[in-house]
Amino acid sequence: MTSQNQAANQLRSQPLRRTPNQTLLIDADDTLWENNIYFERAIASFISYLDHRVHTPEEVRGHLNRVEHATILSHGYGLHSFRRSLVTCFEQLTDTPVTPEKHGRIESFAQSIADQEIELLPNVSPTLADLATRHRLILVTKGDLEEQTGKLQRSGLAPHFTAVEVLPEKHHDAYLSLAAHYACEAPSTWMIGNSPRSDINPALSAGLNAIFIPHDFTWVLEHEVVNQPPAGQQLLELSTFADLARYF
Ligand SMILES: [Mg+2]
Repeated sequence: MTSQNQAANQLRSQPLRRTPNQTLLIDADDTLWENNIYFERAIASFISYLDHRVHTPEEVRGHLNRVEHATILSHGYGLHSFRRSLVTCFEQLTDTPVTPEKHGRIESFAQSIADQEIELLPNVSPTLADLATRHRLILVTKGDLEEQTGKLQRSGLAPHFTAVEVLPEKHHDAYLSLAAHYACEAPSTWMIGNSPRSDINPALSAGLNAIFIPHDFTWVLEHEVVNQPPAGQQLLELSTFADLARYF
């Protein structure tokens, strides 16, 4: 093979980079840093502490999922909600009052999450630094304002973002308002994240492009089938965050 052919082949195997000045809306939990694994560990400790005589660990987990879903509807996302869900689940499954001692123990499972150091996913920091030289980066996360902004500060990633949005929920209307607020042009705006339910499907339905970067331990309440993009919109699936630099 001639060197010219080799060069041509290499070009073909390289994805085409989008032009500069795209707007990249970027999710935080389980896209930039680990998050759900801490909840999974806390839940495992909770289930073994509860040590239910009748219900299997899977049944306890199923019940906790339902309790969490209800708590989030009334109290939003965040550790305060998770703490409340653990206590409620314990009360409902044991039929006994939660003594201060038990309450303290249950609280400690949630506290273990708050005490976690930020653990960035591989190559997130250099990739963001690189993307920020060509594009506008906006962090779009949901949850408790103080918790999420605290994590961003501790992550050291804040300087790469021109704006930060902590939303109560990431649904269709939230993406429409976001796009209007930041004067995003749909063809050059991309929502990037690990959650089909919060990042991909609602962004696509709001007319934006999306990039799905699956995480092995995405929270079960975020699971959903990834929709096909409507005509004229784009959806990419990448295996790592660093792959973004090949496309943008
Ligand atoms: Mg996420």
